[in-house]
Amino acid sequence: MPKHIIIVGAGPGGLCAGMLLGQRGFKVTIFDKHPEVGGRNRAIRMNGFTFDTGPTFLLMKGVLDEMFELCGRQSADYLEFLPLAPMYRLQYADREISVYSDRENMRAELNRVFDEGTAGYDDFIVNERKRFKALYPCITRDYSDLASFLSWDLIKALPWLAYPKSVFANLGRYFNQEKMRLAFCFQSKYLGMSPWECPALFTMLPYLEHEYGIYHVKGGLNQIAEAMAKVVGECGGEIRLNSGVASLIVENGAVQGVKLDNGDEVRGDEVIVNADFAHAMSHLLQPGQLKKYAPEKLKKLDYSCSTFMLYLGLDKVYDLPHHTIAFAKDYRTNIRNIFADKTLSRDFSFYVQNASASDATLAPAGKSALYVLVPMPNNDSSVDWQAHCQTVREQVLDTLAERMGLTDLREHIECEKIITPGSWERDEYVYKGATFSLAHHFGQMLYWRPHNRFEELDNCYLVGGGTHPGSGLPTIYESARISARLISQKHGVAFRDIDQSRWLKN
Ligand SMILES: Cc1cc2nc3c(=O)[nH]c(=O)nc-3n(C[C@H](O)[C@H](O)[C@H](O)COP(=O)(O)OP(=O)(O)OC[C@H]3O[C@@H](n4cnc5c(N)ncnc54)[C@H](O)[C@@H]3O)c2cc1C
Repeated sequence: MPKHIIIVGAGPGGLCAGMLLGQRGFKVTIFDKHPEVGGRNRAIRMNGFTFDTGPTFLLMKGVLDEMFELCGRQSADYLEFLPLAPMYRLQYADREISVYSDRENMRAELNRVFDEGTAGYDDFIVNERKRFKALYPCITRDYSDLASFLSWDLIKALPWLAYPKSVFANLGRYFNQEKMRLAFCFQSKYLGMSPWECPALFTMLPYLEHEYGIYHVKGGLNQIAEAMAKVVGECGGEIRLNSGVASLIVENGAVQGVKLDNGDEVRGDEVIVNADFAHAMSHLLQPGQLKKYAPEKLKKLDYSCSTFMLYLGLDKVYDLPHHTIAFAKDYRTNIRNIFADKTLSRDFSFYVQNASASDATLAPAGKSALYVLVPMPNNDSSVDWQAHCQTVREQVLDTLAERMGLTDLREHIECEKIITPGSWERDEYVYKGATFSLAHHFGQMLYWRPHNRFEELDNCYLVGGGTHPGSGLPTIYESARISARLISQKHGVAFRDIDQSRWLKN
């Protein structure tokens, strides 16, 4: 009889673990509260428009390809990838730059926009390539016990951690002007962190973009979750939607299964938790079952920022790039408001995706689907989102008019949806509305992040943004690979592995 693996959550981590384990012959059952798969990576569909709820940048495509390969498949048979050139446009108060992964185009843009031109650019690529190569083996390994933590890989990588520098400080090696550095460190927002606090090792994010490019997927990145769900089914797994898990069944310190919202109990050999880590630990367990991550301790951990989301279906074609990132005029104050003071800013940074410009499937002919993301404090703030939602919406529309010249947006809105930090927490089950999970500082990374083989309960594994290696699709797929590996090893199930460094450039 195959061992039965129960997975709580059909987000990217749960689906990826489900397909890897299904391929290895395990019986897989995935439960999700929502009526669709994908979690924060699912589609929002309105009036013929399609939006991605969350992820819109696919980085490290090689990792995604490997997940399909591990299942004996090719990602290209399920998904159509569109490399983006330029990758995105950055907009400052006084200038803008198109960012390319192609070196010649990038050099031309740097020379056009910044006094210091390309002086540090080649050093940035060469040094950060070395750093990434040293760190990548540490990202992809398991840290479920101290012995696995104290590895030769990690010892070799120690000089590359650049501890305690921040990404912003590390970039000082290559670039002088603050605006130049911002072009290479705003990516710390992908982790929901300030570039002045995000550890220097995450300089790997801009490096990865410049070295390997970023991708859109036809139909939206939600198609990745759909494709993974298809593979789960092809491997014999079952996905039960509209099936919330009310609690984990714990007996003698080991998880034996799950109790569903409808009262049914389902027992299995292992349970993988993909639901947002802190949400799951504070909702699915009884008082006293956890110590390290007991509710009062969870509250004291550091969490990422949140986001205010505006999805606009517009009855007009807007000629905007696929991705635009606009910096607040006073970027440092906006960062301080989000992370330290936890207050709203009137002058804020924002991101606009106009994916229907490069993918006609996302909006009806003659129309545009705009996705607007504004980083916000998480729900440790005292902002009442019911009261502030409409005011912030108006401010966002005013800012789009002022900063991007989109003065007629209000007249062309055919349909819209808003997600506030409050609704991330209430409707999407995200603890404190911290959309990028636990913050990624050293005290909450590697061995110090909740372990893939969960340290507090037996027969329990974690996947998703709240466990090692961290938030972001490629690292979430890695968490699934690690947990699937640990479960396979525990049950003596052989599987084909692949050399994880194959896609790295020398
Ligand atoms: C706005 C935004 C933009 C982002 N942009 C990017 C990007 O461009 N690129 C990138 O790589 N990453 C991005 N991310 C980060 C990350 O990739 C996504 O958040 C990703 O979806 C997280 O995946 P996950 O596996 O942790 O699970 P989630 O997506 O959080 O899914 C968890 C699932 O668990 C389910 N669940 C919760 N509780 C229960 C329960 N009790 N019972 C049953 N099911 C339950 C939920 O319904 C959900 O479906 C972004 C995130 C957000 C929010």
